[in-house]
Amino acid sequence: MADIIQLLPDHVANQIAAGEVVQRPASVVKELMENSIDAGATEVQLVVKDSGKTLIQVIDNGKGMSNTDARLSFERHATSKIKTADDLFNLHTKGFRGEALASIAAIAHVELKTRTEDSEIGTVINIEGSKVVSQEAAVVPVGTTISVKNLFYNIPARRNFLKSHTVESRHIIDEFHRVSLAHPQVAFKMIHNGSDVFNLPKSNTRQRIVNIFGSRANEKLVPVQEETDIVQVDGFVLKPEFAKKSRGEQFFFVNDRFIKSPYLHHAVSSAFEGLIKDGSHPGYFLFLEVDPKSIDINIHPTKTEVKFDDEHTIYAMLRATIKHSLGQFSVAPVLDFNKDAGFDTPYAYSKKTPVSPTIEVDRSFNPFEQEPGKSGRRTSYKHEQAAQWESLYSGLKGDDLDLDELALQSAESMEVESEEVTGRLFSEEETKTHDVTFQLQNKYLVCAIKSGMLVIHQNLAHQRVLYEELLKNMTLQEAVSQQLLFPLQFQFSKPKVTLLESLKEPLEFTGFVFSKLEDELVEISGVPTAVSESSVGGILEQLLSDLENEVPDAGFSQNDVLAKSLAKNLAIKTGTYLEEEAREHLVHQLFACKEPSVSPDNRPVLYTITAKDLDKKFM
Ligand code: ADP
Ligand code: MG
Repeated sequence: MADIIQLLPDHVANQIAAGEVVQRPASVVKELMENSIDAGATEVQLVVKDSGKTLIQVIDNGKGMSNTDARLSFERHATSKIKTADDLFNLHTKGFRGEALASIAAIAHVELKTRTEDSEIGTVINIEGSKVVSQEAAVVPVGTTISVKNLFYNIPARRNFLKSHTVESRHIIDEFHRVSLAHPQVAFKMIHNGSDVFNLPKSNTRQRIVNIFGSRANEKLVPVQEETDIVQVDGFVLKPEFAKKSRGEQFFFVNDRFIKSPYLHHAVSSAFEGLIKDGSHPGYFLFLEVDPKSIDINIHPTKTEVKFDDEHTIYAMLRATIKHSLGQFSVAPVLDFNKDAGFDTPYAYSKKTPVSPTIEVDRSFNPFEQEPGKSGRRTSYKHEQAAQWESLYSGLKGDDLDLDELALQSAESMEVESEEVTGRLFSEEETKTHDVTFQLQNKYLVCAIKSGMLVIHQNLAHQRVLYEELLKNMTLQEAVSQQLLFPLQFQFSKPKVTLLESLKEPLEFTGFVFSKLEDELVEISGVPTAVSESSVGGILEQLLSDLENEVPDAGFSQNDVLAKSLAKNLAIKTGTYLEEEAREHLVHQLFACKEPSVSPDNRPVLYTITAKDLDKKFM
């Protein structure tokens, strides 16, 4: 048989390697910025157009490359950073594989301009899909500028796979944060589509954090410092009260390299145990220094995972150090974590002057005549609850309709767009038979219908109700807002405020009233009726992170994403006990929806068990 094994041509090998190294524009940003750091730059500028899809350019004032090195730098396994395999265990640089430039040049149009201090004339090289198009001598400043244009131009599948501008910019900014946080002694600048996004002067770590995350960050930081034989820890954690619902600022650096470590993250989280709410995440900026020989950073191509020799010791030490710091700065728990949101004073009540309680004896009260649940206090509590529920559903008119009527209405409006399930649900013989709705495990509502029973997921059902209501308000441009007596102020980073600005209009139709949106300050003087004052911060935070991370490219409008995020945040949570009225109300509202059977995220909201299904179980 003839020989059939061939060596892959270089450009093919490079394209394959590129798949590992370059997943998205942000990967290019990371590789180029790290090369600049390795080259000893003290100033690094990142210029991005269209979230990196059109241009990623990194300009540094590092040591530059000679004419020959410039050409060699694009060869695979071309690196100046290791010479023997042994060097791998004593790394002080970011790069070492000599793969990045070769990979990037395989899948983009790349221009390199570079000059070293000791030569008068520099080099300009143009490469397209691994082919050197030109190499010339030129007058350029000392240092290196690499421009990467039209990423993935020759791999349409990858290019199409790129996410929206919002998502790709988010990733780029993440990488920019990671590199710039690890090197406060280097000045960084980032320009996106012609405008300055970050301008970070040389500084120390604390100032760097503040310059990136906004001046308010300063007072949130608790310093952490410890040194042992195997590891030195430095940095900051955020005070517990600034823990976030979404994973926010969580940074581990090992020997100035950003890493992800679920294990060490756990160590930090456990140090915060009891200080923050379940489901919130602590923020931290932690810098670990270890002997390069004691770690293996070679286990992942994009080098964000590290293997420590002595993981357990580092875990224990990290946890203890953070606990100590939190204790020393006396950040004691102040929040009441078990507080049931359902007991919050309704907004309308909070402004009333308190009246001292009076004792009234109901002389006609006869315990043998009344149901125990209907006596005094409990009833008035129910009224309060009902009032609150009304505010949740204000603007909706379904209250006084009866369910059969609703079901009919829905059935009519449904014919056009309903799926089989919903159609069936509202057919005449299947309307609910009587008004008792049970709650199961504080999670499901169960009601009887003619053909059997209906199980409704309370959280998903409420999401659907709120989602349709919010969308309606945004579409009809009708805001239902509750005015705040004292405006609330929040500090957000500049990019977040810019994002809010761009969403101001649709957000106002959901009921938010922004009295100020400037620099790093957001002032809110009105909130949607379903939002309690105390939850505004968390809701905004979540909203921003949903918008940054989950905006799909096409098919979904921004309003849709907004409505989804808010609905998710505001909906009655699983685990919440619902009074009878509240259960009824929710069921009514759900049936008044256009698409009651699916949640905004397309999860099923309800499930029918027919008498026939049940019969089968008893045969
Ligand atoms: P690695 O960083 O793993 O060595 P790269 O492909 O990223 O591999 O870079 C190849 C080589 O090109 C580097 O080892 C370095 O010598 C040179 N190089 C890359 N970028 C720069 C830069 N900005 N300034 C100076 N030299 C650079
Ligand atoms: Mg490199």
